[in-house]
Amino acid sequence: MSENTRTAIELVDTYAAHNYSPLPVVVTEASGAWLTDVDGRRYLDCLAAYSALNFGHGNPTFIDVAKRQLDRLTLTSRAAHSDWLGPFAQKLARLAGKDMVLPMNTGAEAVETAIKVARKWGHQVKGLPQDRGEIIAMHGNFHGRTTTIISFSDDETARADFGPYSPGFRLADFGDVESLRQAITPETVAVLLEPIQGEAGIIVPPAGYLREVRELTRRNNVLLICDEVQTGMGRTGTTFRFQAEDIDPDIITVGKALGAGIVPLSAVIADREILGLLRPGEHGSTFGGNPLACAIGSAVCDVLATGEYQRRSTGLGERLHAGLEALVGHGVTAARGAGLWAGVDIDPAIGTAKDVSLDLLDHGILVKDTHGQTLRFAPPLVITEDEIDLIVREFRAVLEQRLTRHA
Ligand SMILES: *Cc1c(COP(=O)(O)O)cnc(C)c1O
Repeated sequence: MSENTRTAIELVDTYAAHNYSPLPVVVTEASGAWLTDVDGRRYLDCLAAYSALNFGHGNPTFIDVAKRQLDRLTLTSRAAHSDWLGPFAQKLARLAGKDMVLPMNTGAEAVETAIKVARKWGHQVKGLPQDRGEIIAMHGNFHGRTTTIISFSDDETARADFGPYSPGFRLADFGDVESLRQAITPETVAVLLEPIQGEAGIIVPPAGYLREVRELTRRNNVLLICDEVQTGMGRTGTTFRFQAEDIDPDIITVGKALGAGIVPLSAVIADREILGLLRPGEHGSTFGGNPLACAIGSAVCDVLATGEYQRRSTGLGERLHAGLEALVGHGVTAARGAGLWAGVDIDPAIGTAKDVSLDLLDHGILVKDTHGQTLRFAPPLVITEDEIDLIVREFRAVLEQRLTRHA
């Protein structure tokens, strides 16, 4: 480790809370799919800031929009209108085939908002008495870090010592319709799920699952909330993952890449009969729907409406998955995913996913472990075929070194 890197990391360790365990690299610049560290070393970015950078670092389309908007107007708060919220909301609603949008900033806030609006629907439309109504989430879920959201997490690290927890949640097994059927009661207001579980290790449910969940929730007068914060915005080959099974959720949460990796921007998308229930004062955010974020978000919607990035994700994703699947049996026990999103299980005999990610960093590939034995590959969708091949080649080299060492 260089002196530059060591000094920078020491400063972070001394003055910033240790609520993350970052890779030992200090990035100072980036372009497209490539990062440069303080020593001038380059790394291929295979995390894309947890898919917040689907459109790549420094994408000129969005940087130009941001620069122009910075000179005009950055914030009004919702006390006044800006000329960007309307166009942004219209474009995002149309992209999802819904009536309305509620803009927030972070993914967790979008999920919190969806929970509030679903509960309001439960009381005002479904007719449940006050303080009744339950939301069913899934084992292995990840929806953010707020006190309410961690209340229905089953990840002990995320949860332990942070109680008392918010009531009103119950868990079902992800990918198992029968488990969900048993969890639904007359007081269920909504089912909340990630169409593919991200933090849990890119867990893809069985084909037909989302469609069955949609039918089951509809029959029971229960809302379906799809959290597309990580699966959305082209990551899995379609604009939203729920489109892979051609379903129509009641509520969609989006975030991460919606702000093009420039600003935090999230949203709840739903029809008027749901989002229209909110009245002034019942929900809000000082920065939610600010003109800078909305100008960028509008440009993101415009780009997604062309389908260009979804096509890239599908085509390049096939190449990535073929490359990774060929490694099964060579230090890898399983590979799965959709579009440019892959979870790869490392054979415990050669080390942990974190060990392998550190080796890959030495080989110029930045990738992060999730949940012990799984590596998550989520490169920006601007990545090229040659760069995909480079990932697979370097990954194979790292695995072979470890296999030899552990033979
Ligand atoms: C990242 C993520 C969130 C939380 O987003 P933040 O912007 O970190 O609050 C919520 N849901 C899913 C599915 C996510 O991947």
